[in-house]
Amino acid sequence: MSKLNLIGLPKSELETRLQDLGEKRFHGRQLFKWLYSVRQYDFELMTDLSKELRDKLSDSFEISGLKAEDHKISVDGTEKFLFRLDDDKPIETVVIPSEEEDRRPSAGSGRNTACISSQSGCAVGCFFCATGTMGLLRDLTAGEIVGQLMFLRDKYGPSAFSNVVMMGMGEPLLNFENVINAIRIMTDEIGLNISPKKIVLSTSGITPKIKKLAEEKVGVRLALSLHAATQEKRQVIMPIAKTFKLDNLMKAVRQYADSSKLPVTFEYILFDGFNDTRQDIEDLSRLVRGLRCKINVIAYNRVPGLDFKRPSDDKINWFGRELNQKVKAVTVRQSRGRDIEAACGQLAARKFEKDRVSAQI
Ligand code: SF4
Repeated sequence: MSKLNLIGLPKSELETRLQDLGEKRFHGRQLFKWLYSVRQYDFELMTDLSKELRDKLSDSFEISGLKAEDHKISVDGTEKFLFRLDDDKPIETVVIPSEEEDRRPSAGSGRNTACISSQSGCAVGCFFCATGTMGLLRDLTAGEIVGQLMFLRDKYGPSAFSNVVMMGMGEPLLNFENVINAIRIMTDEIGLNISPKKIVLSTSGITPKIKKLAEEKVGVRLALSLHAATQEKRQVIMPIAKTFKLDNLMKAVRQYADSSKLPVTFEYILFDGFNDTRQDIEDLSRLVRGLRCKINVIAYNRVPGLDFKRPSDDKINWFGRELNQKVKAVTVRQSRGRDIEAACGQLAARKFEKDRVSAQI
């Protein structure tokens, strides 16, 4: 019989499991600390647990992390890992260095952003996204979500990253319970001990779940993948916008900003000839008026086989400058890791397609 993997179990569940073994609950807390704070994965080396308890643990449980199948490093320092889960499903994790200088994780500067996945594939199907072409393969467990961060710390040490964005493959709010459990492990002082303010949850706009996220009071920052500032335009590129209309969505976003007391980030990918006009700037600035927010304007990272194009550098800079006249906090970001297919899901989608074709032959 296969043993239960402890990675990803909430602290309270570890305590209950220990109680079920006839042990004191506080041993669950000790175990939690060994797993995430110390990152010790060998029961034998958990020295403040008795020999008898260590034997019981290794008889009943295992501690199993993620293993990378592929690793690419871009000329700009962005790193991408492709993982195969136990059932062979692919996911990706990207580490993006700070833009000021080359801050590769291996350089240990600690100012990197870890972009993690919450699902393998994605059901939302945004028309510009490589992950969207795969459909949903499955939700990640909480262990597979935090496992991406543990892998990076195991590889590069505690300063492997300083910020976390849930902006990789998948829609985090459609894997709600596992994502919340993962966030609790990330932010626990004896867990991965990451400040909630350093974690961004990025959503395509699942309105009821934004409200639910506010109720959970996990204190993470919210980012909305907006990409178009009117209902009509947004539903052209994001089918989910037909279900969750922009006016209600913006109400939920404003409520989240009020209750969390944190500014909201809007991600706005610029597509050539679609959302890059003066009218788009007017619409966008009107939409966010009065809201404490930041707008990230991101140049589209072209995905082979999809129709969207990246605007010229001049157009991108013009858009950022003009928008900045109307909205205080605007950043213009070039896509990172273009030479290693670092756009959301690109590498995994290509491998997935290759596997699918070879399975058909
Ligand atoms: S952009 Fe995000 S929500 Fe949209 S299909 Fe891609 S992974 Fe899913």
